[in-house]
Amino acid sequence: VEPARTPSTSARERYADLVELVQKYRAAYYNDDAPLVSDAEFDRLYSELERIEALNPELVTNDSPTQVVGGDVSVAFAAVDHLTRMYSLEDVFSLAELEAWLRRAEASVEKRHGTAPQWLTELKIDGLAVNLLYRDGVLVRAATRGDGTTGEDITHNVATIKDIPQKLHGTGFPAEMEVRGEVYIASKDFAALNEQMVAAGRAPYANPRNTAAGSLRQKDPAETAKRPLSMYVHGIGAREGLETTSQSQTYAQLKEWGMPTSPYYKVLDTLEEVMGFIAHYGEHRHDLIHEIDGIVVKVDDFATQRELGHTSRVPRWSVAYKYPPEEVNTKLLDIRVNV
Ligand code: NAD
Repeated sequence: VEPARTPSTSARERYADLVELVQKYRAAYYNDDAPLVSDAEFDRLYSELERIEALNPELVTNDSPTQVVGGDVSVAFAAVDHLTRMYSLEDVFSLAELEAWLRRAEASVEKRHGTAPQWLTELKIDGLAVNLLYRDGVLVRAATRGDGTTGEDITHNVATIKDIPQKLHGTGFPAEMEVRGEVYIASKDFAALNEQMVAAGRAPYANPRNTAAGSLRQKDPAETAKRPLSMYVHGIGAREGLETTSQSQTYAQLKEWGMPTSPYYKVLDTLEEVMGFIAHYGEHRHDLIHEIDGIVVKVDDFATQRELGHTSRVPRWSVAYKYPPEEVNTKLLDIRVNV
């Protein structure tokens, strides 16, 4: 690590330009569901911003894009506060970086407990995060992530998604529980939707992620109901009275209660197995139900998650590995796009 120094004028200028660009691109992506640049281009600018901050820590303010969860609350929706904060994920872009991250986390857990953690390894679904509040097994509210503290009330839109139960099945529900998941459009549903658009003489949608996000944030739930939205659970917030002690146990319990859990996740014991999982889905990423942009690795045990804690933006017990961007030809549009 280089020692902190007074940033040069050019570093300050580049930094100010980057902050402005990242904020503009985030607004287009999160608030308008209409990105102005590819994810790869966005990630490149964001990484440059992080590098400048690492070298010039005095530039970092509380509202720097690296310190906040991206996404505002649109005036089109009522604002709702989450019971517990929703976070983003720390991204790494190479296997070497991922391995270094996992080894550091493993060493820190081993120091406390004498044993390495188990890793819940799952797909990073390219969709939109939702927070579902269940009271005594009944869905009472659904919200977008927003800035992590406050999201948008999309309860009526979520009510149109068949995967999401309005009432859980079975018994023994906690008094209050926030289930977090990703709303997405399955690849085959996206293809069918675009065939319908083209048949009706309309322009096809550009990609499933932004279509899912735009569909979920419609003012009229009847519009949302026309879109083939699905969801998989990937987390839990407030959990008063929920007796599970790990993320994987929670998924099993939620599945029993009728929540949609992913068929792809695994609990793994070693880093070699985690790397194997990543290699496998790197090869098979287009054979899946939905699009992914990476893999998420999480410490499975809740007590260890709590010990490791969070930064202002991300949990310290989880990391997202992003696959390298690929260039593809979309069949319908026949234009080159980055995905
Ligand atoms: P992120 O997408 O890197 O990670 C956090 C999100 O991942 C969570 O909120 C959740 O919604 C999602 N997720 C999917 N599968 C998950 C799983 N299994 N477990 C946990 N979470 C899971 O972070 P972010 O802050 O939402 O946004 C950054 C991403 O958005 C980057 O991929 C970036 O490229 C993209 N982005 C693109 C633009 C653009 O202009 N193209 C602008 C802003 C952000």
